[in-house]
Amino acid sequence: MKITVHRGMEQIGGNVIEISTDKTKILLDAGLELETLEDKEVIKTEDVAETELDLEKLLSENDFSAIFISHYHADHVGLLSLAKNLPSVYMGKLAYDIFKATEEYKNNIVNFIPARYFYDGKPIVVGDIRVMPVFADHSACDAYSFIIEAENKTVVYTGDFRGNGRKNFSSYLNKMPQNVDAVICEGTNAGKDGVNLKEVELENKMADVMENANQVFVLMSALNIDRVVTVYKAANKVKRIMLQDVYMSMVTDLCGNNIPNPRTFNNVYSFTSKGMDEEEYSKYFACYGNKKMGEKLIADKKFVMCVRSSFKNYLQKLNSIKPLSGSVLIYSMWDGYKKQKIIKDFLDFVQSIGMEIVDIHTSGHADCNDLERFLEKINPEHIIPVHTVNTEWFVKKYGEEKVVRDKIFIV
Ligand SMILES: [Zn+2]
Ligand SMILES: [Zn+2]
Repeated sequence: MKITVHRGMEQIGGNVIEISTDKTKILLDAGLELETLEDKEVIKTEDVAETELDLEKLLSENDFSAIFISHYHADHVGLLSLAKNLPSVYMGKLAYDIFKATEEYKNNIVNFIPARYFYDGKPIVVGDIRVMPVFADHSACDAYSFIIEAENKTVVYTGDFRGNGRKNFSSYLNKMPQNVDAVICEGTNAGKDGVNLKEVELENKMADVMENANQVFVLMSALNIDRVVTVYKAANKVKRIMLQDVYMSMVTDLCGNNIPNPRTFNNVYSFTSKGMDEEEYSKYFACYGNKKMGEKLIADKKFVMCVRSSFKNYLQKLNSIKPLSGSVLIYSMWDGYKKQKIIKDFLDFVQSIGMEIVDIHTSGHADCNDLERFLEKINPEHIIPVHTVNTEWFVKKYGEEKVVRDKIFIV
């Protein structure tokens, strides 16, 4: 089995990885290198040159039988929209539904329908390659790792994963094979000190902050479903209603009745931060009936509102109805985004109207402890670090012999 990392080594995100045998070729992920998206965490080491990757060209020069998408973050799926003639695409059903709905909300066209959806533990066979999707915990929901078997070899691809979310990490580890030939392992947090807070710990921290604040805003990704649950539970503890804008409402609606959403949760309401034309209104907002709220009604409630950096004008409006001084903005995203102009402007603005900013966040990627637990369990012959700027950590920990830095590797 041949592993070719077309992109994704020595950088975080933009993964494009090929697995091939004599008979069959597949791709794992087709990610974009975007540095400005709120939904994922792409950073690059300064000494790595821009690695232009033409997916169209790669597809036309090779006969790929399938593309397996681990999850809906743009640094794993975003490249697909730039190619015309795609082979069969495989993806989680909910992941695809969320990806499609959010792209269409932004007026982008989704150019594929998956040939089949993933089910945890149900293998998909393409030619002589067998791919078993394993449900993984990540800041995107419906994310998967893959166990790939071909030519009597076993390779694991982690995708993006972590052990500190609401899913049980031990049961994830139990599904993993032992003594694999190689692992293509994400290392976003490789070498970083400290242990990731668990989502349940965030919940308590948030509830403490929410307790005495005037109003509460949470700056977060609408696609981080674990975090939506955390914010809801914290708000519920301190008896505040949760407000989701139409975009987040649309996403949580797709996730089914167990995820806090305006349709089935009594204390969750939908609002819109922007003017909508009639068509948009009836598509996204009218459907919430008495679960939608205008700003005058909102101003009279004790609430927790999930926001994005584009909501400055809306907050200004709320502030003019009832002053927001003494309110709190919980910053619940990767710290690095604070350098982006739009985020910085938003944070400056909320402070200028007398709000306090409190950081409460935990990573969507495994910390070193969880990486070590995972690698101990699968006990790989070789480690191919991807989605990391710290391959050195793997080398120091597991030795030069074991860690692969070459873009092409044969197991
Ligand atoms: Zn990623
Ligand atoms: Zn991701």
